[in-house]
Amino acid sequence: MAKSGSRSSQNEAFRLIFSEILDLRIRRAFRRETPFFYGDAAMPKKPQAKVLSVRELMQMFPDEDAAVKYLAGILWPNGPVCPRCQSQNTHPYTSKKHFHRCNGCRKDFSIRIGTIFECSHIPLHKWLYAMYLIVTSRKGISSLQLSKELGITQKSAWFLEHRIHAACGNQKTKILSGIVEADETFVGGKEGNKHENKKLHQGRGTVGKTLFFAMRGRNEQVVAQVVDSTDAPTLQGVIKKSVAPGSAIATDDHGGYKGLSAVFVHKTVRHSAKKWVDDWAHTNGIESVWALLKRAFYGIFHNFSKKHTQLYLNGCTFRLNEGNCKYDTVDRLRALVNGVQGKRLTQNADERQLPPPKSLTYTCLVSVASLFSDNENFVVQDHKGVPSNVRTSSSVASSK
Ligand SMILES: [Zn+2]
Repeated sequence: MAKSGSRSSQNEAFRLIFSEILDLRIRRAFRRETPFFYGDAAMPKKPQAKVLSVRELMQMFPDEDAAVKYLAGILWPNGPVCPRCQSQNTHPYTSKKHFHRCNGCRKDFSIRIGTIFECSHIPLHKWLYAMYLIVTSRKGISSLQLSKELGITQKSAWFLEHRIHAACGNQKTKILSGIVEADETFVGGKEGNKHENKKLHQGRGTVGKTLFFAMRGRNEQVVAQVVDSTDAPTLQGVIKKSVAPGSAIATDDHGGYKGLSAVFVHKTVRHSAKKWVDDWAHTNGIESVWALLKRAFYGIFHNFSKKHTQLYLNGCTFRLNEGNCKYDTVDRLRALVNGVQGKRLTQNADERQLPPPKSLTYTCLVSVASLFSDNENFVVQDHKGVPSNVRTSSSVASSK
């Protein structure tokens, strides 16, 4: 039984790959032939994505009221929902602007509660402008530039940008299929260029650099994450989580990919032998993801702090997936707004000896907590307001 099952899944994979290759060849032939028969004028025009200019954006969101109305239309399509008890039985709370009171739990709430906007004093139309800039900048935007655009401090802009990057990572988990390219890369400064007191003295090459691993389907969907190692269990573990069994995987000849053929149709291109394409197998799609990421690193941000690297990567992959420039700008902005719920990133006030925040937050994805588990400056709170990785004042005292 198992044998026939694996054979049928292999047949399915071959059928899939064959149809993709055939499709590619037909499209190529069509592109070549059509001008001879019809002339350039008859060539089918590529649909152009509608671009939203800054001026149009300002007309859309001139003030906080317009921004609240826009966000409520996306986050509460059937009217206000209480973030505490999920009740729709609410009424507007007249003494506080943009607030509602729940008739069930008698608590007040606004559109910000339970989202990345919670406990922020920055007006929502400025948040939307920041989201627009992050989505439309091909390689991202630095916090310094963002602070100048929004008229806020660089510190606020940095934190705001990371909250938006957290929303970028809140998109639906993708399972890639068909032909999928996988590759890993190191990003970071050279040891030789570092100041003497910053050198790690552990050799050269990949020392002190961050390791990224990404997969890209031929439908251009990208899944990327920061990994600790290039060994087979790490890389193949990520591949098995993100790629449908029976799909075709194209990689280079790195040893960490050996053994993939047990689950996938696996083909390697020997980059070490200066070979870049072997029939359907190549990693050119994923190389263009690295090109974008590295240009963002060198040209825009200049440095990714190791503990926040995944957030920068979230922004980069969002611009390649839901935020792709092939889509209308309005749709890209809407996709980002769809991810704002359930993310709460707070700056830990421990070092300033402030009491823990009294306001409670409602929903939070555990996955964000894992991102910051080694970072003491950030706290992710659960629905009771209990931080998942907070250093309590007692633990700080005991460590001293
Ligand atoms: Zn309620």
